[in-house]
Amino acid sequence: MKKEKLIIICMDGLDPDYISELKHSMPYEKKLTIPRSLYYGNKPHTMNIWGSMFAGKEKPHPKFQVSETVKNRFRFRKILHKLGIKWHRDGWNIKKERETHVGSGSGKVHNAHVDYKETIFSQYHSFIFDIPGVVDGFILGGSLKQVNQNYKLFKILLNCLTLSSYELLAIYTHQPDIQSHMELNCDSIYKEGFFIAKDLARDNKVILLSDHGCSPYTHNHTDYAYIGTNFPFEATTVLDVKNVIQSIMEQKEE
Ligand SMILES: [Zn+2]
Repeated sequence: MKKEKLIIICMDGLDPDYISELKHSMPYEKKLTIPRSLYYGNKPHTMNIWGSMFAGKEKPHPKFQVSETVKNRFRFRKILHKLGIKWHRDGWNIKKERETHVGSGSGKVHNAHVDYKETIFSQYHSFIFDIPGVVDGFILGGSLKQVNQNYKLFKILLNCLTLSSYELLAIYTHQPDIQSHMELNCDSIYKEGFFIAKDLARDNKVILLSDHGCSPYTHNHTDYAYIGTNFPFEATTVLDVKNVIQSIMEQKEE
């Protein structure tokens, strides 16, 4: 008999409210709160959340912690964005590129800041792909072309890795968040996410997970993350995700 795996589909920016608006659902699901320490510029921040979820504790990225300077910079940037002045920053080089995700401001590689040994993945035979804060070489705010390429890889990996011997898999895509920031329609990405999750749920335990929402209306991060599964669980905040994973992995071992 085929051995059951736990597959975590990590979709950055999948918004719990928009999920219900589009009438998508998983058998068990919840809106998760996000601790304030994982915010940056008054919004939940990608680089702070993913690693914290998988470590089960607050692990803000050293470069992305809230300060008054940061808050003011974001206020100023918001005003400029409203005036139609958008840019892409690579260190001190400021470029005006249409192809680029303009929301993040920086296209630098952000290396892992969470020790892999502290994450749930180190306890099992695991495979992870592109998780911000956990893997080296994750690029925050890369070009749309690059994000599109990674999205293709995300889908291929989800299909191929089901044939592998890994027992715990977490595959990440930045696509919903980037598309929403760029004010592009995200409906087909949501549809695809739920289609993949339900398809994989026929033979596997599945978690569909986001770090925060990214509203298709405001094009900005919302205060809640999403978790949808094909098994019962208990969770209130993003920091409970590690326990959800652990308890289902322990059940599988029995
Ligand atoms: Zn994010």
